[in-house]
Amino acid sequence: MSAVITVRSPYDDSVIGEVPAQTAADVDRAVAIAKQALHANPLPLWKRAEILDRAALRLTERREEFAQIIAREAAKPIRTARVEAERAAGTFQFAAAEARTLSGEMIPLDAIPSGEGKLGFTLRVPIGVIGAIAPFNFPLNLVVHKVGPAIAAGCPVVLKPASQTPFSSLALARMLIDECGLPAEYLQVVTGSGGTVGNALVDHPDIALITFTGSPDVGWSIRARAPRKRVGLELGNNAPCIIQPDGDWRSAAAKIKVAGFSHAGQSCISTQRVFVHRSIAAEFTAELAAHVDSLIVGDPLDDATEVSALISTAERDRVVGWIEEATAAGATIAAGGVVQADGVLRPTLIANASHEMKVCSQEVFGPVVAVAAYDTLDEAIALANDTRFGLQASIFTADITVALHAVRTLDFGGVLVNEVPTWRADQQPYGGLRDSGNTREGPAYSVREMTEIKMVVLS
Ligand code: NAP
Repeated sequence: MSAVITVRSPYDDSVIGEVPAQTAADVDRAVAIAKQALHANPLPLWKRAEILDRAALRLTERREEFAQIIAREAAKPIRTARVEAERAAGTFQFAAAEARTLSGEMIPLDAIPSGEGKLGFTLRVPIGVIGAIAPFNFPLNLVVHKVGPAIAAGCPVVLKPASQTPFSSLALARMLIDECGLPAEYLQVVTGSGGTVGNALVDHPDIALITFTGSPDVGWSIRARAPRKRVGLELGNNAPCIIQPDGDWRSAAAKIKVAGFSHAGQSCISTQRVFVHRSIAAEFTAELAAHVDSLIVGDPLDDATEVSALISTAERDRVVGWIEEATAAGATIAAGGVVQADGVLRPTLIANASHEMKVCSQEVFGPVVAVAAYDTLDEAIALANDTRFGLQASIFTADITVALHAVRTLDFGGVLVNEVPTWRADQQPYGGLRDSGNTREGPAYSVREMTEIKMVVLS
């Protein structure tokens, strides 16, 4: 019998199911099938758009089923999992729009004497077989952010989901193939460890592009390992949020209650570092602490639950260690900081945090928000920018001049005003600077990455 991976619930360790532990030979087979499909069965634009339209429709109809799968395998509270499934349907809609409008451009060749009498234009052609490697934290929507644009671009995909969350990907592939008309060769899911299956995809000569979402260490090692491939990286962050004294700080506190703790902080743009003006720091921290204390923590399948378990007990213990390190260095716990009887770490608010603490300088990827007071705006912006990450940042202020100054000086892939840095629309260009990555996702941007420009000259 071939090897299997047993997937267990991060919340109560119950067995959810098994998937095959596939090998490099399985990757070879899948890539060969995908390559053959690209040449033998290219998808015309109308078909790509039709498949994506159906996918949006079926995902909407089957939203609850997909939400249940996400909640079980990722311990994402079912309420949040429903939102993810809904967003994934929207991502397919935006990908369908790209399929309908994918086009090249006219190049005015007669702008030089030797081009007179010639007609020039570009086509956008599929880049080739895509290797997609996905993280555990949005096991459906972040997979759709890779698969949807790939279908729009006409590229077959070999997809490796995170080992903890393979079932969303497997259900998605079945739906696309059985219910939406996608030829089976255009989406093959390979399950197995990152070291085996992931590396085999990265190394494969017939994979034209790797689209990777996950941790910076793995992401940059893939970039180094595949210098001749196009490699798109969506990586980590420690998102900052600045709160000016004239900003609507009550609204900021209410939003951070969700933005810092949704899926137990396991979002790449989870609000992590809050810089609040000293004049309102005490009031703001007390208000946010009350919000955090009110969060309902427990079973992800319970409709009332707002925060559940981290992806593993090892991750929980790491985050607890970082909280202890911060308090030993002088920070105080304003809310949470304890592990419940069911093993779940309570959402934690750390006050008097400072830059040297891991909860500020690193990506926590857990239910922890760290608050620090500042005196001047320039100081706050310098603190926010003092990071190796650069995905999204935000500021709350009522002053348009301050807002525009922050937009200009916050050095991130996205800057939000009077909103948390955790807010994201699926059609926006989404991606980071520095260690946060090297690309932008969002169907319109991903489709460009997944196609090549072919120049045509008619003489
Ligand atoms: P991860 O440990 O890096 O894993 C991501 C994927 O890479 C998984 O499928 C994993 O497989 C695979 N992998 C591991 N080692 C590999 C290797 N040597 N070669 C190829 N693939 C390999 O990340 P994660 O814990 O799932 O996700 C958390 C991270 O993702 C955080 O840093 C978060 O900020 C980031 N993230 C970024 C974005 C964004 O859009 N910027 C969005 C979501 C998450 P296994 O599961 O089998 O190990």
